[in-house]
Amino acid sequence: MNTAYDQLVARLKRAHTLYTVADLLGWDEQVNLPPDSADVRATQHAVMAETQHAAATDPAISRLLDELEGGTPARQPTLSDSGQAVVLRYARRDYDRAVKLPADFVAEKAAHSSHAYHAWAEAKAKDDFAGYAPFLEKHLAFARREAELLGWDDRPYDYAIDRHDPGLTAASIAALFTELKHGLVPLVTAIRASRVHAETSLFKKFPIEAQRAFLREVTERLGFNYRRGRIDVSLHPFCSGTGADIRMTTRFDPDNPLDSLFSSIHETGHGLYEQGLPREHLGTALGQAVGMAVHESQSRLWENQVARSRAFWKYFEPKFRALFPAQLAAVSSEALYLAVNAVEPTLIRVDADEVHYNLHILLRFELEQQLFSGELAVRDLPTAWNALCTELLGQTPANNREGVLQDVHWSSGGFGYFPSYCLGNMMAAQLWATASRVLPGLEEDFARGDFTRLLRWLRENIHTQGRQYDTLELVRRVTGEELGPKHLLAYLRERYGRLYLG
Ligand code: ZN
Repeated sequence: MNTAYDQLVARLKRAHTLYTVADLLGWDEQVNLPPDSADVRATQHAVMAETQHAAATDPAISRLLDELEGGTPARQPTLSDSGQAVVLRYARRDYDRAVKLPADFVAEKAAHSSHAYHAWAEAKAKDDFAGYAPFLEKHLAFARREAELLGWDDRPYDYAIDRHDPGLTAASIAALFTELKHGLVPLVTAIRASRVHAETSLFKKFPIEAQRAFLREVTERLGFNYRRGRIDVSLHPFCSGTGADIRMTTRFDPDNPLDSLFSSIHETGHGLYEQGLPREHLGTALGQAVGMAVHESQSRLWENQVARSRAFWKYFEPKFRALFPAQLAAVSSEALYLAVNAVEPTLIRVDADEVHYNLHILLRFELEQQLFSGELAVRDLPTAWNALCTELLGQTPANNREGVLQDVHWSSGGFGYFPSYCLGNMMAAQLWATASRVLPGLEEDFARGDFTRLLRWLRENIHTQGRQYDTLELVRRVTGEELGPKHLLAYLRERYGRLYLG
């Protein structure tokens, strides 16, 4: 006879399984879908969202939760009571939220996300913001309505933040970002005035098959398990799926081999986190990521602190040269390392270097707040974007493709996600400072191609923890400090100051 707890977990896992099926449809949509099949995919998304919502709002979940919350905790041989308490807490939160959303609202929103994704891709190709604006307006209306249904009607943008990073608010993020900006702007100004320049134009005609082989070797060496994951090509690189089946994507440009390499390492960081979650708990809070800021801290740590280090290139440079001997013949080791750490202002967030990257996020955070407060109308978004871009980055987009249409996130209603990138950067630098302190000799490991000690430390401290602690508590426990920009600023000054400021 199964205990009430077992019965609850079985239902949570069923809802989660349906979610993973919908997620796989989303992956397929961006990787494989034939151009004229978008309509049927929107219908499939709507049906899946409705089915998943029905599973998540199954009245049996409520009954079992009532029973478990009211009575003595059901004993589980494999799980501590504190683990059960975490599962119950999130199951209650998720259930109470799900029942506040009408099924037709959930289905309509899922179908709209699919339509809006294709509208965005087309608008971006044609540089046609006006064609996309109605889709964005409808997404904003959905977001406001959802916030209202869930009880955030006085602060709808906080609801958007909470969806990605529970425990954080627009106000707490604004305080962190203000401190970061204060430290970042002088560094950006000094590096822009530097006479040192990376020669990225030296990289020409890198065959895609060899690029693919190199990134496979790198990501496998970092610890990614390709027996439970794969990498394909999409317009916008992403990582989806769960630890049982990870789907990563990248993109290839023969004249920019570092782009596909670093975007693959970034997605690998996400994949390693998911693969490190306790598989037996997938579908409950103990097998789930804390939030997107923690997720981004994992991707950014591998992409930046690790893969842009001299030690990493000490190991991989000979392998890179062996695959591309002619293309790299005129590139010295120092020029290669400088290209890996090139600092150049760009209008495109995903192309931005580490020094400028956070400024791109400050821009989006500011505009999202204005959109949600009603201060900014969707039709005025391009003008507002360009003005803020000029102010923060010193460059003005010549068209909306390199401005407001560049990112995929809003096309799926993903408001409130952008801040997670910047929070993730702060967290990555803070985790790196702690890891370097408690694991002396990490860079010597990297120079030998050994990344296991770092991965094991992340597994123990972050991945296997599931959702036991929220974002800020996790950072406090692992690093002994509150989350802040101090370590990110120190890291950027050290790495880029040394390269560009002598
Ligand atoms: Zn990411």
